[in-house]
Amino acid sequence: MDATAPVISQTTGSPRTTVTAIPGDGIGPEVMRAVQRVLAAAGARITWEEAEAGAAVFKRGIASGCPQDTLDSIAQTGIVLKGPLETPVGYGEKSANVTLRKFFELYGNIRPVRELPGIRTPFSGRGIDLVIVRENVEDLYTGIEHMQSAGAAQCLKLITEPGCERIIRLAFALTQAESRRKLACATKANIMKMTEGMMKRVFERVAPEYPGIEASHIIIDNCAHQLVIAPEQFDVIVTTNMNGDIISDLAAGLVGGLGVAPSSNIGDNAAMFEAVHGSAPQIAGRDLANPTALMLSAVMMLRHIGDFAAAEMVEQALLVTLEEGRNLTGDIAPKGTGVGTTAYTDQVIANLGRTSGHPSRQYQPLNLPVWPKGVWHHDSDSRIMMGLDVFIESDHAPERLAASLQAATEGTDFTLKMIENRGVQVWPAHTGEPFLVDLFRCRFLLGTPSEGAPDEIAHLMKRLTAEHHWMHVEKLQRFDGLDGFTRAQGEN
Ligand code: NAP
Repeated sequence: MDATAPVISQTTGSPRTTVTAIPGDGIGPEVMRAVQRVLAAAGARITWEEAEAGAAVFKRGIASGCPQDTLDSIAQTGIVLKGPLETPVGYGEKSANVTLRKFFELYGNIRPVRELPGIRTPFSGRGIDLVIVRENVEDLYTGIEHMQSAGAAQCLKLITEPGCERIIRLAFALTQAESRRKLACATKANIMKMTEGMMKRVFERVAPEYPGIEASHIIIDNCAHQLVIAPEQFDVIVTTNMNGDIISDLAAGLVGGLGVAPSSNIGDNAAMFEAVHGSAPQIAGRDLANPTALMLSAVMMLRHIGDFAAAEMVEQALLVTLEEGRNLTGDIAPKGTGVGTTAYTDQVIANLGRTSGHPSRQYQPLNLPVWPKGVWHHDSDSRIMMGLDVFIESDHAPERLAASLQAATEGTDFTLKMIENRGVQVWPAHTGEPFLVDLFRCRFLLGTPSEGAPDEIAHLMKRLTAEHHWMHVEKLQRFDGLDGFTRAQGEN
C-alpha cells in the first residue's frame, strides 16, 4: 500500500461539524455537559446530535446496548464523543463499547500519556509525553474461545497482515502529525513468532517508507519495564491489542491514572473519542466528577476534525487551570479545597484564551491511507500440505496414545511425528517432567507433501474418529517455502 495514496479527509469542509454525542451512564451526562459548555465557549464549530447507548438500552432488551438510531447517527456523522457505558449485570452478552468498536471497525486505539501540571505522581518532573497506539479489534479480543475438554480452555489469537499494516501506518502517520521523532513497535515476537512476529515483520517492512522517523522494535515485557524505569525515553509505541490494553493502563498510571486519561478509537469511516475511566456510579449525579479526561478526549476530537485553533485554546485553558490549582475537582485538588464539576468547568471557561507554561505541540492533519473495500487476500505462489495437527482429548499415557495413533495411520500416507502436551513434546521423547493434562496435540506428517491431499485427510480422520475424541484439526502448510506452523518445545 502506498502511504501517499489519497487520504481520508479529516475535515468536513463545512463551517460546522456534526458530532454524535453519547452521554452514557453514571457520571457520563455530567462530564459530557461540562465538555459541551467548554467547547461552545471556545467557539468550536460543532453541532451535537445526541444519541443513546448503555445501561438503559440494555434494560429495554436491546442486547447490543446500542439502538439502531445511534448506529445510524454515527454512520452519518462519522465522529462520536462518548461518555462511559455500563453493561448492567444480567443484561446483554457484549459490552456496548465493544459493539461500537467492532461495528465501525475502529481499529486504532490512541492513548496519549502526558504529565499534567498540578497532578502529582511519583513520576512528576520526568517530562513524560508519549502516545500508545493499540490495535483495537484483532488478537485475543476476537472473542473466539472454545473448551477443548471439560478442563482445558482455548482462546484464538488472530493477527492478520492487513490488521498489522493498518495500525502500523496509523502509528507512523500519527508520529508525523504530532511532529514526533520516534516510533517503537512492542511485541512478543520472540515467543509468538507467527502472530506477534507478524506485527514485527510488517513494521520492519513499512518503516523504510518513513525515513524521518526513528523506528525500533522492543519486546513487550522490556517495554513495560522501560515504561516504569525511564518512561521519558518513549515518543510513540505501537502494539498488538492485548499488549496495548495492559501497557496503556500502566502508562496512564504514570501520569495520574485513568481519571485524567483521554483516548480515541480510529476507523476508516468513523472515529470515537472517550475518557478511559468508567461511569463511577458512586459519585454519579452529585456534581463531583472530574471532566478532565473527556475534555482532553474532546481536544483530540477537535484536532481530528481539523479545528486546531479550538483544540489548542481548550487544551491551554485546561493546562492553565491545572497549573494554577484553583477550583479543581476533589479527586485532584489539594485536601479540603475541591469544588464540583460545574465550578471546575467555569474555571476552565474563564481561562480560555490564556497560555500555560506547557506549550501545545504542533499538530497537522492525520493522513491515513484509504483501504480498498472487499475481501483482502494474500495470494502465495506455492502452498504445500505437510501434514496435520489433531488435538485429541485423552487420559492415556503418551506411549499408549501413540501406539493407538500409529495403528490408525496404517494404510494411510501419514506417520505420527510427535505428541505434545501444552506445547512440550511428550512422545517420542521428552525432557524434564511434563505435567500432563487431557489434551494432546498429535502431529501427523504426510509421506508425500502435496497441494491438497483431501482423500488422505478424510481417511485418517475417519480412523481417528472411530477411536478418539478429537477436538480440532490444523493443517500444516508451507507457504512459498516457509513453514506456516511452529514446532513444539523439544521437537526437532
Ligand atoms: P470507574 O467508573 O472508572 O470508577 C472507579 C473510581 O475511579 C470511581 O469510583 C472514582 O473513585 C474514580 N473516578 C473515575 N472517573 C472519575 C472521574 N471522572 N472523576 C472523579 N473520580 C473518578 O471504574 P469502575 O468502577 O470499574 O466501572 C464502573 C462502570 O463503568 C462499570 O459498569 C464498567 O463496566 C464501566 N466502564 C465503562 C468504560 C467505558 O465506557 N469506556 C470504561 C471503564 C469502565 P472514587 O470512588 O474514589 O470517587
